[in-house]
Amino acid sequence: MLANLLEYDLEGLAAWCDQRGEKRFRATQLFRWIHQKGASNFDAMSDLAKPLRNKLQAAAELRGLPVMSEHRSKDGTIKWLFDVGAGDAVESVFIPEDDRGTLCVSSQAGCAVGCRFCATGHQGFSRNLATWEIVAQLWFAVHFLRRHLGRSERVISNVVMMGMGEPLQNYSALVPALRIMLDDHAYGLSRRRVTVSTSGVVPMMERLAQDCPVALAVSLHAPDDTLRDNLVPLNRKYPLDELLKTCIAYLTHAPRDFITFEYCMLDGVNDQQSHARALVQLIARQGAGLQWCKFNLIPFNAFPASGLNGTPRGQITAFARVLLDAGIVTTVRKTRGDDIDAACGQLAGDVMDRTGVDARMARQRKVLFKGVPVIAAG
Ligand code: SAH
Ligand code: SF4
Repeated sequence: MLANLLEYDLEGLAAWCDQRGEKRFRATQLFRWIHQKGASNFDAMSDLAKPLRNKLQAAAELRGLPVMSEHRSKDGTIKWLFDVGAGDAVESVFIPEDDRGTLCVSSQAGCAVGCRFCATGHQGFSRNLATWEIVAQLWFAVHFLRRHLGRSERVISNVVMMGMGEPLQNYSALVPALRIMLDDHAYGLSRRRVTVSTSGVVPMMERLAQDCPVALAVSLHAPDDTLRDNLVPLNRKYPLDELLKTCIAYLTHAPRDFITFEYCMLDGVNDQQSHARALVQLIARQGAGLQWCKFNLIPFNAFPASGLNGTPRGQITAFARVLLDAGIVTTVRKTRGDDIDAACGQLAGDVMDRTGVDARMARQRKVLFKGVPVIAAG
């Protein structure tokens, strides 16, 4: 079987090359061709000797994910649906802003955590993505956008692991993917601009602090265990006090001096003034002041199966005011791409209905692009 070289971080690629008698600097050259230049075949790699290219051709491939659909929002947001096989598909969303470009990346087909307000959670879990499937989303987007926008500079400056899935329940595939994002020979993203968002997988947060400390966002959604148990079932395993202690410990290694708490505003569920006051107490109780975290209030993107509604705008502002007045930095997330269902929690991909083939899926299985950047040599 051919090895897909998108699977390896630089260390992994160096080991792969070493096993084939190739020096480390060859691995670096190869790595740059793949990620910086977006090469999808070995022939394009003009500074590698022909015999080496032949050797690579015989043992390896550069395979991306087929793109099943592309949707463009009027605000510039682009959503791609990638086929990951066996009836599963995952989504990535590109969000352009004046001073940055963010790619929202998926880590799993479906999700096992099962949060009540999340469309992905409602689908159930299908499988973990491999490192190459996580990386392929960025590989495709960067090189597609460069071509499409005709720009060579950094089109994607930020990556958020906020697409489908719980990244810290796919830890072994996630970490090499993060390393590829950060590597100066690949995408060269700053640790501060790569964010892992988690529903609170405590042991893996501890490991991430050691292995690859990038920016951390924690999906909080409730100020007490009773409510959080109900909204984010993982809370029963890792309750709030334990979670918050782990957040504070993470700060010793983190590239930023704060943790972001995401809080999805659900009408009549977690959005009362009393909840805001309880949040302030919860943060204060940790004994680290109020400056070690920021709150990002997310307007709920409703979907029928949730049976939940979003908090009215004015009430979100009033909730934010309680946190701000207490001295907690708080922002309200701007919704992007909602005309193409690309907003948070709307990424339902199309994990196959486990009970049979879903008709919509069957229609969508036509592939739009092969998902590999086509690049000119040199
Ligand atoms: N599993 C990770 C990352 C993916 S979800 C996590 O839970 O953090 C990314 C963010 O979208 C999370 O903060 C999640 O709570 C939020 N989210 C999920 N469903 C949503 C919805 N319907 N409306 C708004 N935000 C939602
Ligand atoms: Fe999974 Fe995150 Fe959705 Fe919860 S919010 S079900 S953890 S993807």
